[in-house]
Amino acid sequence: MSSIAITINGQKVSAQPGQTILQAAQAAGIDIPTLCHHPVLAPIGACRVCLVEVTGQRTLQPACTFPVADRMEIQTESPKVVRARKFVLELLFSERNHFCMVCEMSGGCELQNLGYRYGLDHWVYPTYTERLPVDASPPHHLMDHNRCVLCRRCTRACAELVANHTLDLRQRGAHTMLCADMDVPLGDSSCVGCGTCVNVCPTGALIDKRSAFMARPEAVDRVGTICTQCSIGCGLNVVMHRGHVLRLESRWDAPVNGGLLCRRGRFEALEDRRPRLLEPLIKENGRSVPASWNWALAEAARHLFNEVPEQLGLLTSTRLTSEALGLLEVIFAKHLRTSQRGTAEGLTRGLPFTPCGKLADITGSDLILLVAADPARDQPVASFLIKRAMDQGARLVTVESRPTDLSPFAEAAFAPRDMGIAVELVQAAGRPVVVYGAGLTKTDAKLLQKVESKARFIPLVPGANSVTATALGLNNRLDPAACSTLFIVAGEENGTLDQMATRINPAAFVIVQACYASPLTERADLVLPMATWLERSGTFTNTDGTQLRAHAALPPSGQSRPDWDILGRLAERLGLDAGAAKAEFSRCGS
Ligand code: SF4
Ligand code: SF4
Ligand code: SF4
Repeated sequence: MSSIAITINGQKVSAQPGQTILQAAQAAGIDIPTLCHHPVLAPIGACRVCLVEVTGQRTLQPACTFPVADRMEIQTESPKVVRARKFVLELLFSERNHFCMVCEMSGGCELQNLGYRYGLDHWVYPTYTERLPVDASPPHHLMDHNRCVLCRRCTRACAELVANHTLDLRQRGAHTMLCADMDVPLGDSSCVGCGTCVNVCPTGALIDKRSAFMARPEAVDRVGTICTQCSIGCGLNVVMHRGHVLRLESRWDAPVNGGLLCRRGRFEALEDRRPRLLEPLIKENGRSVPASWNWALAEAARHLFNEVPEQLGLLTSTRLTSEALGLLEVIFAKHLRTSQRGTAEGLTRGLPFTPCGKLADITGSDLILLVAADPARDQPVASFLIKRAMDQGARLVTVESRPTDLSPFAEAAFAPRDMGIAVELVQAAGRPVVVYGAGLTKTDAKLLQKVESKARFIPLVPGANSVTATALGLNNRLDPAACSTLFIVAGEENGTLDQMATRINPAAFVIVQACYASPLTERADLVLPMATWLERSGTFTNTDGTQLRAHAALPPSGQSRPDWDILGRLAERLGLDAGAAKAEFSRCGS
């Protein structure tokens, strides 16, 4: 499409037809202030802060919604524009409580920044500061109506991004209030606690409870990494102050999730209170005592080397980096030749369909068939994407043995015996996607083969890096009772491996590599302390096969080490070249 010529503040600018004035100005590096506008939300022109003067227009126009036209002449900071903008800001400041010095957002508030920019140093109009409620009912965030400027970023984020439609405005004029559902406390509403609304709020009206008042907004650092709580691999920013993690925030340019996070990824990931393992431990006379890394690794290597392959077992979390999983494969499959190699999720099927689709294919589909998966529980951001597609007109059909949180939204919910009918619906659709979970049976897979050329298939596997673990053959059968030496990489699995402690052969020598103390590490003869997800870098392959990079935000605590570092050192103790092992892993193309 050929570009058009416009003039902004006397400067010739090239713009694209269909762009708004704001988009064209931003592309040309010209700043127009905004408040209700957010780059990932559809513009609504509600706050009038972005008003600009357009030659030939009778009134000032909002730059965020007004489209450019050929030879358009625009003034973004003319005296008339500045007067109008100041007037808008004076009205906003005169209503509700904007006493910045006691606000969590002071220093990072977009309203406050605009006040400074336009020199608001006193109240021009009588103030209207009726005391409004603070809704602190959700577990992780709160809504302070006194700070709200009714910009509706939160209502739009909840509707457009999360497709949850919890928030809205009620009443009119000065009585307008933000509300949840039919005006119930947020904590009793349909809110799923994802915190997306908190992330888009320009003022201190919606804040994260955990990190409130812990640091001034301009004093924090951000490190981009990925969430490893499930197999979606959502990109996020770790917000830090003086080496301490304050909170986790959306990263709007993240490739898989585009800024969406769920409650588990945004809030609960920072709530692990289990005691950390900070040094290697070895059992002596029934008691675990500290040991040096040298001694612990030498003992681990000695026991592994002396075990016969049939009696040796490996059980691993899939929340490990691909580098660590690659080293496990080289050590246990290639070198020690044990066939007992299992993952925390037990034996799950691989990915029966190729090529698989991408999570992004959900957007734009006209029919979504959900089989043997519960994304609202297991991969919540995938459930947001499904509901978003439904808002755009997609139909949801489920095949499930028990209802899930998405079932009420389904046009049809079939029992597994009616899979054939669901397949016919896929056949008749224009752009269908099949989203399937690890519980997919062989019979279902066979029926779905009929639409393999028609639909995009998107697996929802359990475990952050299950795709790599399965590709490397670590997803086999494991009988812990049959092993006389067992190497368990528990990582930071939350309780899922603990019941394993009771199934281990009492006479077995057990080595556990983990972040936290647990019944499993109590049972262990040797404990290797591991860095957490915030303390190690590495690569992951998410559920749809996208390669993602995690970055350490913190150094490892105590003497703990990254997963790949421990296994690289163990490989060397076993006489393997860790560098060559990594190269071998790369060659496998995981
Ligand atoms: S936390 Fe999420 S679901 Fe709840 S109101 Fe905010 S955006 Fe909506
Ligand atoms: S709570 Fe924040 S985002 Fe929502 S309307 Fe008020 S100021 Fe805007
Ligand atoms: S969907 Fe999964 S990867 Fe994304 S934020 Fe939630 S737990 Fe983390």
